[in-house]
Amino acid sequence: MDELLSRHRGVMPSWMPIYYEQPIEIVTGKGSRVTDSNGKSYLDFFAGVLTNSLGYDLPEVREAVERQLRTGIVHTSTLYLIRQQVELAEKIARRSGIPDARVFFTNSGTEANEAALQVATNARRSSTVLAVRNGYHGRTAATIAVTGIRAWSASALSPFNVSYLHSGDRLRGLFKGMSDERYLEAAVEDLREVLATTTAGAVACLIVEPIQGVGGFTRGPDGLLAAWKEVLDEHGILLISDEVQTGWGRTGEHFWGYQAHGVTPDLLTFAKGIGNGFALAGVVGRAEVIEQVEGTSFSTFGGNPVATAAGNAVLDYIVDHDLQANAARVGGILLDGLRAVDSPIVVEVRGKGLMIGIELTSVAKTGAVFESCKRDGLLVGKGGLYGTTIRMGPPLNLTEEEAREGLEILTSALHEHA
Ligand code: PLP
Repeated sequence: MDELLSRHRGVMPSWMPIYYEQPIEIVTGKGSRVTDSNGKSYLDFFAGVLTNSLGYDLPEVREAVERQLRTGIVHTSTLYLIRQQVELAEKIARRSGIPDARVFFTNSGTEANEAALQVATNARRSSTVLAVRNGYHGRTAATIAVTGIRAWSASALSPFNVSYLHSGDRLRGLFKGMSDERYLEAAVEDLREVLATTTAGAVACLIVEPIQGVGGFTRGPDGLLAAWKEVLDEHGILLISDEVQTGWGRTGEHFWGYQAHGVTPDLLTFAKGIGNGFALAGVVGRAEVIEQVEGTSFSTFGGNPVATAAGNAVLDYIVDHDLQANAARVGGILLDGLRAVDSPIVVEVRGKGLMIGIELTSVAKTGAVFESCKRDGLLVGKGGLYGTTIRMGPPLNLTEEEAREGLEILTSALHEHA
């Protein structure tokens, strides 16, 4: 492994983060477990950054992909009809909750957001957009422009005029310690003030994650997007819900994160969990909005036959096995178990379904808990704006036994570093 690490360092850019003091090479996976090149097995609660929604090597997905590969057609381009693509688009459109929906496939969440921003700014003929502090939307110039996290934002110049709204966290900042009711009032005041003071002319859209992922699994109260949308509608501003992390039933309560807010966005973007590792993402929007793009737009690989074969198998499996309900049930076990841990380094346990964050007292404690989990056979994520969050987004088909096993490892790590 040391040899591979030094080769990695010799050829990859230094700004690419890599996990762990002793990074690991994962070589096999089955269910919710992976094995590294030393033969050590781990329960995976980060699932390729919430992407392996059905874990590893699920026969239904493997067989769907193998069937497609056996046709000899890995790729044809969207200049030709692709049955798997049309079928998946129909399913996603039906599930999206967006009336008269159109679907455009891309290869990554970044590209999906890029496409949504392209649609919205075209539709409103304006390059002024609203975003949310601490939000993350991708790594191209446009998506970095709407990302409100300095560490990521520093890497590109903005093609937009962006104004940022205050965001989720109630531990610090504008919303510190506020009740839901007060929070909603303050968020609407903030939006009105931002519109009145920092924008000029038409504003195209607001892009927002229902639960901020990279930002540390923080969120505002349910109803926040509806409260904002009332104001947005007064000004004809479109709402984009970035569901890259919150889609496919992950929050347990709803299929999409936006549904906790009692509002329907004009555009939603999806990625990660639908491909279970295959590059599959896209944007869904009302025809009336999406058809306003002028000229031609096309993605060579977006909605490719292999990726959409996987996507159909994944979506069918999630629906047929009601994994949204599983996320609520198994996530509930984890949330309750973690909230019961009495450790002075835990500031807050937050989340919904199988999207769970633990806020700790310091970056050092977060790193220590993170390393102990790995030592004891559990992979989790870390991050957040302040580097003090342990993040978890296990496969949606995680079992109760696996949840309890992971909980035991986490509990012991939280006590070990207390
Ligand atoms: N939007 C959100 C909310 C994300 O969490 C991410 C990635 O983590 C992206 C967009 C970018 O997606 P991708 O890495 O597939 O480009």
